Amino acid sequence: MDISAAVETLRKGQSPAFPAEAKKRGFAEKLDAQDELRHLREEFILPTTKSLRKKALDSKVNGSSPDTAPHCNGTQNGLQNGDTQSDYVDSPSIYLVGNSLGAQPKAVRQYLDAQLETWASIGVNGHFTSLDESPLVSWQDMADDCAKRSTDIVGALPSEIVIMNTLTANLHFMMASFYRPTEKRHKIILEWKPFPSDWYAIESQIRWHGLDPAKSMVEIQPDDNFYIPTEKILSVIDEHASETALLLLPGIQYYSGQLFDIPRITRYAQERGIVVGWDLAHAAGNVELRLHDWNVDFAVWCTYKYINAGPGAIAGAFVHERHGKVEHSEDDGKFVFRPRLAGWYGGDKSVRFNMAKTFQPTPGAGGFQVSNPSAIDLASLSAALSVFNRTSMSALRSKSLLLTAYTEHLLNDILATQSGAGKQPPFRIITPRNPLERGTQLSVLLRPGLLEHVGKALKEGSVVCDQRKPDVIRVAPVPLYCTFLDVWRFAEIFRHAIETST
Ligand SMILES: *Cc1c(COP(=O)(O)O)cnc(C)c1O
Repeated sequence: MDISAAVETLRKGQSPAFPAEAKKRGFAEKLDAQDELRHLREEFILPTTKSLRKKALDSKVNGSSPDTAPHCNGTQNGLQNGDTQSDYVDSPSIYLVGNSLGAQPKAVRQYLDAQLETWASIGVNGHFTSLDESPLVSWQDMADDCAKRSTDIVGALPSEIVIMNTLTANLHFMMASFYRPTEKRHKIILEWKPFPSDWYAIESQIRWHGLDPAKSMVEIQPDDNFYIPTEKILSVIDEHASETALLLLPGIQYYSGQLFDIPRITRYAQERGIVVGWDLAHAAGNVELRLHDWNVDFAVWCTYKYINAGPGAIAGAFVHERHGKVEHSEDDGKFVFRPRLAGWYGGDKSVRFNMAKTFQPTPGAGGFQVSNPSAIDLASLSAALSVFNRTSMSALRSKSLLLTAYTEHLLNDILATQSGAGKQPPFRIITPRNPLERGTQLSVLLRPGLLEHVGKALKEGSVVCDQRKPDVIRVAPVPLYCTFLDVWRFAEIFRHAIETST
């Protein structure tokens, strides 16, 4: 199979034709051998079949490499009934859960060690000094440094990115500045099934302004397949345009995996006087974004999913250049800037430590920062970004398009063999078929009653993936550290689980 031709097809929004041999393990291995990003897996520590069962700390951290992936000895399934886990050599798990918590980059330990040594050695001087040989800049400069190294991930100028807080907190801070309801324009348009935290944030902001969520929240409903056509979004915008203050959507819907047409929707809403914000929790580090060029007003994202900075790691926010201006008033010389909830770390570095009462924000997104950010947390993010800085979102997306299409192909093959006449198919993929309308994740809706059996089989096969009760499993083969062989092995274990479930 010609990989670059296949990627080109995918980039046109079409599925490539896989050959008949695509079902065979050797085909996956061939794709891995041709994968120009395969070395990046070496930058990560993946949980192993044994480490997943660890119950107590033992100071051992598993290494992992594709070479140690178990061989299936010519059998159909990686793990057979009756075999126990201890019969297997330790090998990396099949980690398909980057949409929930990315795997640990090896650099994290090195960067954290550097930070601990810096703190222990020079104490408070670490705020303004960095040590030679350290991968880190001074604590003062770390957030800016991480912003600079995130520009390719979100498609923004360094000054449009601020690294701070956590995702939901940033959603609140951004809404404090960008959701300015008036009597006439008070509505927020959202989708039918936002991540609960986003729902709570939106609802509580509306109440905070003394408004009624029943009147101010507008939900866009999907079709029968959990899909929301762009036309539907545009029609809801039209319907509520004159009363809407803010449109707030996820770049990728966490449940269905649908990637929205961010530039088109943004433009359409803005032309109708609506401010547009995006929650990029499932999009950042997953798909290519051009927030600056798309003229997005603001965006927020977390860094523990596809960016791999660790559980609850420090998050990011985007504020478009045009909202970050700080000007001097001609009349009274006071600073003029977009209203926001302010804190001292949003203050310009040149005067931050003067401890004055006048707030003079840093121009750009940095002026929305509030507190002194955790240097430990930033070290972890810095390490995670160092892996992204070895490649590009464009290269990652190219691999991801093919990896996900291959996953889909193998799942469809299972469906083809399992759905005879009169038989109800055991599952369906609810993520859009169009490769340009999804990221790496595929959401598989199982026939009711199958989740427990399938979930158990996946766990026994050391597949780490996400289950959303009652019936959905989400698999996210992440191009940074997942292989085509991982996907093939997952499909074999899944096939076996489906075959033995009826
Ligand atoms: C993961 C996720 C969150 C989690 O928010 P935190 O503030 O990081 O806990 C919120 N919203 C969406 C859409 C998410 O995917």
